[in-house]
Amino acid sequence: MPERLVVIGGDAAGMSAASQARRRRNRRDLEIVAFERGRHVSYSACGIPYWIGGEVARERDLIARDVATFADEYGIDVKTNHEVVGLDLSTRTVSVRQVDIGVIEPVAFDQVVMATGAVPVRPDLPGLDAPGVFGVQTLDDGERVRAAVDEGARRAVVVGGGYVGLEMAEAMARRGLEVTLVEAAPEPMSTLDTELGAMVREAMTGMGIAVRTGEKVVGVEVGQDGRAVAVRTADTSYPADLVVLGLGVRPDTALAAAAGLPLGETGGIRVDHRMRVLGEDGVWAAGDCVETRHLVGGHAVHVPLGTHANKQGRVIGINLGGGYATFPGVLGTAVTKVCDLEIGRTGLGEAEARRIGFQSVAATITSTSAAGYLPEPGSVTIKLVAERRTGRLLGGQIVGRGGAAKRVDVLATAITAGMTVEEMISLDLGYAPPFSPLWDPVLVAARKTAEAVESAEYRH
Ligand SMILES: Cc1cc2nc3c(=O)[nH]c(=O)nc-3n(C[C@H](O)[C@H](O)[C@H](O)COP(=O)(O)OP(=O)(O)OC[C@H]3O[C@@H](n4cnc5c(N)ncnc54)[C@H](O)[C@@H]3O)c2cc1C
Repeated sequence: MPERLVVIGGDAAGMSAASQARRRRNRRDLEIVAFERGRHVSYSACGIPYWIGGEVARERDLIARDVATFADEYGIDVKTNHEVVGLDLSTRTVSVRQVDIGVIEPVAFDQVVMATGAVPVRPDLPGLDAPGVFGVQTLDDGERVRAAVDEGARRAVVVGGGYVGLEMAEAMARRGLEVTLVEAAPEPMSTLDTELGAMVREAMTGMGIAVRTGEKVVGVEVGQDGRAVAVRTADTSYPADLVVLGLGVRPDTALAAAAGLPLGETGGIRVDHRMRVLGEDGVWAAGDCVETRHLVGGHAVHVPLGTHANKQGRVIGINLGGGYATFPGVLGTAVTKVCDLEIGRTGLGEAEARRIGFQSVAATITSTSAAGYLPEPGSVTIKLVAERRTGRLLGGQIVGRGGAAKRVDVLATAITAGMTVEEMISLDLGYAPPFSPLWDPVLVAARKTAEAVESAEYRH
């Protein structure tokens, strides 16, 4: 009898784990069954805003592999519309409910991968569960929003200004809706320090999105038919044909918690460096449902990004296949864009560094993403945060145009290598007029921050 691997959740983390395990173990040795409660597997949630906004023509372009491909090419039995409703570690079985008919059946496993992802945060406020209020996490969620837009919604309110909120606001503005974004913080994109967040607000306003910051949502008003008609804040209300929640996500751990799996302080499942659930033999977890370690601060974090989900799934697959792989942790490197304004961040922000006890200095520069004599070179603002005394780079944020955001990868690499801002000044980065000024903005920012480190020590 082959060993049986059950995967719970059929997207980035789960299907990466399954595919990688299959590369290393053949069908006679390992049977792989993946359960997905939705209608799709192996889809790009990251692409949903671009499909809703019309930049991606067909929904199927977001699907990397379908059920038939997994069966034929990988020998992986993927069951969509199958929800795992119970996990019993003593009998090593999962209870699986067929979503369409409600029948529940037990399925035995030798190894199990928890890849249940996350669920949008939905505060307990009046009206937030009304029809017309949408969280966006899975492709099925995306289909519901897209249908509401196609059915002729005219006014949309996005609650929360994280990157999903931003991308969804832009998508709906592109489709011609009147869009209002309501955010409780002083600026959108709270993963940026506020002065950079202000630039994001300006860009959104510039594309016709009404951005209401410093306003807390207190509920959703519903019409006589029970559907959402407006988003209410303390002072006013914003009419809406559809409401999109962009308040972040929390790990989907209902199943894990009921099975007694350990959860960390962030709410995610606790795993070791090989993505094994702590204290449980043959139980693995990856993706948005786990917590991980911050590579700079060393603290536990929940950073729900596809890039981590895929890497963590791969680590599980290698380990399941008899190899050895580890996941070291994250910097929280992320990029996004609003209209043509690109946004990147990695490591610790200034406020965050202070909060977890670092003494730090920061410097912000504004430069261009191409030589200044070329027509309309994009402006780039970079803020770096370095440790006082050592000058070690702790984090960086970039807002700008014309190829600004992916410069964050240089910063992420420098942090990973433990570089100081002084060392970064000599980095051998490429230069030609269409790509950067002679001194790349990253180098200028490193220079300014090194000066700040030096003068902080001098002052001390
Ligand atoms: C709009 C949007 C844009 C994004 N953009 C980016 C981006 O640009 N870059 C980036 O890195 N990340 C991005 N992300 C985040 C990224 O999509 C997620 O981090 C990634 O999908 C997580 O993968 P996962 O497999 O852990 O979870 P998910 O993709 O959420 O998959 C979990 C799956 O498990 C299923 N499931 C849950 N419970 C059960 C159960 N009990 N039984 C059966 N099935 C179950 C769910 O239906 C779901 O399909 C974006 C996310 C969204 C929503």
